[in-house]
Amino acid sequence: MKRSWRILIVDDDTFLWNWLKDSLSLLDYEVEAAENGLQGIELFQKFTPDLVLMDAMMPIMGGLEACQQIKALPAGKNIPIIMMTGIKEDDETVIQSFDAGCHDFVTKPINLTVLERRIHTILSGILSEEKLALSNRAALESISDQLKITSLVLEKATEAVLITDLGGTIQSVNPAFTTITGYSFKEAVGKKPNILRSEHHEESFYKALWEALFSQGSWRGEMWNRRKNGEAFPVMQNITAIQDKYGEITHFVSIFTDLTNCKKNQDNQDLITTHDPLTGLPDRHLYSEQVKQAALRAGRNGSKVAILLINMNSFRRVNDSMGYLQGDAVLKEIGSRLKGSIKSGDLISRLRGDEFGIVLVEIITLQDVTDTIQKLFQSLSCPFILQEHEIIITASIGVTLFPDDHQDIETLLQKTDRALSQAKEQEGNSFQFFTPDLDSQACQRLSMESNLRKALTNQEFTLFYQPKVDLISKKVVGTEALIRWFQPGRGTVPPVEFIPLAEESGLIIPMGNWILNTACQNAREWIENGACSLQVSVNISSRQFQDPFIIATLQEALEKSGLPASCLELEITESLVMGNVEEAIRILREFKDLGLKISMDDFGTGYSSLSYLKKFPIDILKIDQSFVRDLVHDASDAALVKAIISMGNNLGLTVIAEGVETVEQALFLRQEGCDMAQGYLYSKPIEKNLFAQFFREYNR
Ligand code: C2E
Ligand code: MG
Ligand code: MG
Repeated sequence: MKRSWRILIVDDDTFLWNWLKDSLSLLDYEVEAAENGLQGIELFQKFTPDLVLMDAMMPIMGGLEACQQIKALPAGKNIPIIMMTGIKEDDETVIQSFDAGCHDFVTKPINLTVLERRIHTILSGILSEEKLALSNRAALESISDQLKITSLVLEKATEAVLITDLGGTIQSVNPAFTTITGYSFKEAVGKKPNILRSEHHEESFYKALWEALFSQGSWRGEMWNRRKNGEAFPVMQNITAIQDKYGEITHFVSIFTDLTNCKKNQDNQDLITTHDPLTGLPDRHLYSEQVKQAALRAGRNGSKVAILLINMNSFRRVNDSMGYLQGDAVLKEIGSRLKGSIKSGDLISRLRGDEFGIVLVEIITLQDVTDTIQKLFQSLSCPFILQEHEIIITASIGVTLFPDDHQDIETLLQKTDRALSQAKEQEGNSFQFFTPDLDSQACQRLSMESNLRKALTNQEFTLFYQPKVDLISKKVVGTEALIRWFQPGRGTVPPVEFIPLAEESGLIIPMGNWILNTACQNAREWIENGACSLQVSVNISSRQFQDPFIIATLQEALEKSGLPASCLELEITESLVMGNVEEAIRILREFKDLGLKISMDDFGTGYSSLSYLKKFPIDILKIDQSFVRDLVHDASDAALVKAIISMGNNLGLTVIAEGVETVEQALFLRQEGCDMAQGYLYSKPIEKNLFAQFFREYNR
């Protein structure tokens, strides 16, 4: 609770001060009184009043002197004194009183209301002054606190802070500035910030910076500065213009962070995320960015860019036979050989697996492109040495030109892909420039794919069957299911045309399921009708082989049809099992566990070695028709066929030859110990009812 105001009355008129004392006490003032100036000064020091009422004329010490003395006291300096006088129009005393430091003046007889008003006014004035003083003090304290905090922040900040005046002369820097730049406070103050200037920016950069500072009051951005030791370093810089209360710029404060480490991390990060870790070449994300940039530059200067897509031929063979580690070593070597064959400024990336992308810039004639392609082939021509083996690698290259083939980069890359597919159809090193023909081929493929999707629901597929004849008993012992597509309006589409497409699009899975179910059902009917020992074989494609549901699909087809598992044979090819040998063996074992027979189709065209063949749990070797074709006239084919037969026999496998068209071929095969034959000599693939008829008649 606030204490009441204290008033000291100094007057020799005891009647007056008693009356005043009583009256003011009633108004809640605390009042003390003294009879003369001397007493008054004494009491003042004890009582410490907020206001003094002083009689001008008193014995021992008059009011004026007492007033002067009180004012001389440290505690009295600011205490208001109201002089009281009994003399009318005593101008002299009034003047003297004010000179002595009095605040106000009243004449006797005292009008209590007037006096009280005056006291109140003076004291409330003091109060507000006190308040003001207090709040000023608080403000000052808070400013000083803030200054303390600010200087602490500047002291401890990891960002460099530099303050200049309007003319750009450095006024102050903080310790971080010294740490980062190497300039001490003393060395920096008084200099211009251009002590930090690096050669990374042109004059126009600094001009734009100053313009922004004057027009917008601040500038923020990344820039390069230079340390005292001469090293340039990147910073994130923030410069602010400081204005006075009239809006005039007085100072500039520049705060910057050293980005050296961030940049290093970023660069490493960029290198990791944009480069292929094996070859160290840009990856395909960076590649498409580089193609875009190269095209942009070419567009500006009117030059051409060639885009080359390079794919190694049969690279899988290397991985399969030598393992992935060795395969990686070859890819690394390929990357560096290709890189060494292009001129500086041209770009090379590893896109995926054995595929590389090359961008040739500033192409003037097509000869420039073909010359480089020849160099690329040349670089690969020297054999790769792996574990004392020499490996020959050939490549296929698809080429497009910007802007000739297309201006849109995505489209251009698709066209390069098409050109590569075309190049892949040729053997050995080959390249193919994009031609509009390839586009129409791609369109055809697209429409074929959509037709293929409809074909399954529209029941446009049929299974044909080609008999397999036992060369000793001369009986039909098996039959191979071969799919046929009767496309309305086009006729029969050969499987070689649509099976690869079905593989690529994934349609082979539902199609394969249909084939399995149909073949099992048909075989079950024939067996029911007396063809007891008939085996039906179904071709299994790569995608089906890898399908995680293949076992379930097989089980379902057998269960639904009621065909004994021992009557079903699966024809697989070498390429299908050579990718991941261990996994392939696992799957084949599962087939075997179901009770199925496994035949290695087109044998001799793949890369399986004898040692591999032993590993696979297969039952039948099917000699590819390409060796059978010239068997009678070509000694090397004959030798090969002989070798395969004897190898198969030795491994306890049943050997069958496909594509047997002549009696001579059949005789040769039988003589060499081949167990079975299949081919036009006996029958072309035929429709299911015809096969049933053929089976009955042939075996009779
Ligand atoms: P493949 O499994 O090696 O089938 C043998 C191919 O040779 C068949 O061609 C057959 O008609 C043909 N052929 C049979 N005997 C002779 C002959 O004496 N001389 C000649 N020149 N050719 C003969 P097709 O039916 O056109 O099948 C070609 C390939 O398409 C098949 O080769 C097989 O890989 C695939 N294919 C066929 N049907 C299916 C199927 O239902 N599923 C899967 N996944 N692939 C199939
Ligand atoms: Mg086959
Ligand atoms: Mg075959």
